[in-house]
Amino acid sequence: MNRALITAAALLIAVFTSTSASAGAFPGGVYSWRLPAGAENVRFAKKPVMIVNGTALVGLGLSQAVGKADLTYTVNGEEQTHTFAVSGKSYTEQHLEIANRAMVNPPAETLERISEESRRQRRLYASFAQTPDALVEGEAAGFMQPLQGIITSLFGHRRFFNGQPRRPHSGLDIAAETGTPVASAGAGVVTLADDLYFNGNTVFVDHGQGLVTMYCHLSETTVGVGDRVEQGDIIGLVGATGRVTGAHLHWTVSLNGNRVDPPTFLITLNAALAVAE
Ligand SMILES: [Zn+2]
Repeated sequence: MNRALITAAALLIAVFTSTSASAGAFPGGVYSWRLPAGAENVRFAKKPVMIVNGTALVGLGLSQAVGKADLTYTVNGEEQTHTFAVSGKSYTEQHLEIANRAMVNPPAETLERISEESRRQRRLYASFAQTPDALVEGEAAGFMQPLQGIITSLFGHRRFFNGQPRRPHSGLDIAAETGTPVASAGAGVVTLADDLYFNGNTVFVDHGQGLVTMYCHLSETTVGVGDRVEQGDIIGLVGATGRVTGAHLHWTVSLNGNRVDPPTFLITLNAALAVAE
């Protein structure tokens, strides 16, 4: 066996011996763990976590420390701790030029609006509502990418706008022509449909159990707060509103209050749904 093959074999062994449960355990990832019998009150950082078919799905924020992390739960009223390993992940830099300078250094009179919008979004992300049955049962169960198109920016990029460092990219950017329909990734309830400073025309869908998705820069929103949506229902049209370099959808997935990598969440949720109880 040549050296490259040996390396490839060693990598494969490493992949299969590290339990499938820890594959997504990195900052910005999703840790999944099959719960022991009778486990209740499963919490991460004191917040309840999503449970699908007896598997806990735990969103890890980009600021999550690498190393050991704990889930707490109870069995017959007794407190238990499950410790798991969070591995490091290096995200690349992305430099963008924004022609509208007010989107990079907002004028003073907009700062209050921006911080109010930021508080409002954090409140929506902190929700822990009931899961609509349609997310976990039936033909349209599970989760899908809301728009097909060219991925122009990955989750986690360390970002610079006109050379100035800003927060890391908290979603996935999918480019498509203005007016292309955007679907809800899964069943849920619309909790925001509004024009926000940086995000432009934006829709939030609350899918229950701490799972919330956000769709930004829409040319138009086609739903209102309180609307119940199923997977695939159109919630708006692609646009270039807010802080953008061109027409695209910015799609955020948030789990237990943490923004996570959308493709990692897609894979993890659909794997949990495929497990027979
Ligand atoms: Zn984006």
